[in-house]
Amino acid sequence: MSVRHKLAGFVALQQLLTRRAALVRQRDLPPEELARLRALHDERQGAQQEHGRAREALLAEQVALEAEIAALQEEREHFRRQKAQVTNMRQLTAVVSELDHVESRVESRLTPKKDRLTEVRRKLDEAEAKLAELEVETPEEKAAREAAEEAWGVARQAGEAELGDVERELRRLQRELGEPAMSQFKKLWTSRKPHAVVPLDGHACSSCHADLRPSLVQLVRSMEELQTCDSCRRVLYDPEQLPKLP
Ligand SMILES: [Zn+2]
Repeated sequence: MSVRHKLAGFVALQQLLTRRAALVRQRDLPPEELARLRALHDERQGAQQEHGRAREALLAEQVALEAEIAALQEEREHFRRQKAQVTNMRQLTAVVSELDHVESRVESRLTPKKDRLTEVRRKLDEAEAKLAELEVETPEEKAAREAAEEAWGVARQAGEAELGDVERELRRLQRELGEPAMSQFKKLWTSRKPHAVVPLDGHACSSCHADLRPSLVQLVRSMEELQTCDSCRRVLYDPEQLPKLP
C-alpha cells in the first residue's frame, strides 16, 4: 500500500471516528436547552410531590385525631350523664368523686390530642399555602419542553441512520487498510485523538504550531514514508496532495 493511500485512509478514519463520537454524543446526551427544561420540570414535580405527600400525611393524621377526640368526648359525656343521674345521697360523694376521677383521666388524654389537632390544622394550612405558591409549568413552558423533546427525537433518528452509514464505512475502510496499517493507526489514535493525522500549515504543524525543519517538510511532501511532527509526534500530511474530504 502506498504512503499516499495509507495517509488518505488515516485521514478518512480520523474523520469517521470523530463523526461517530459526535453522533454517539448526540444520541446519548440531550441538548443543553432540553436538559435545562427537563431539570426544571423534574425539580418542580419533585417539590409538588414532596409537599403533596406531606399534606396527605397531615390530612390522615387530622382524620385519626378527630375520630379519637370524638370517641374520648363520647366517653366523657357518658361519665357526665352518670354523674347527673346519681341521686342517692349516701352514695353521692363517693360516686361523684370516682366519676370525677375517671372524667379527669379522660380529659388528660383528650387535651394533648386537641393540642395536636390544632397543630396539625395549622401545618395543613401551611402546606396548602406552600403548594399554592409552588411554581408550576405554564402551557408555554410545557409546549417548549415538548417541542425540544420532539426535535431531539427527530435529530436522534437522523443521527442513528447516519451512525449506521459511518459504522459501515469504518468497517470497509478497516478492511481496505488491512491489519498492519490499522494497528499503526490505532496506536496513533489512542494517544493523539481526535487529531492524530494533521495537515501541514505552510512550514508548521497545524496542530501544535511548531515550525518544522525544511527537510521534514520536504519528506512530508515526498510521501515516501509516514513522517511525524518533532514536537507533538502527530503524523503529518501535505493537504495539497490529498483529496479534500468532506
Ligand atoms: Zn506538532
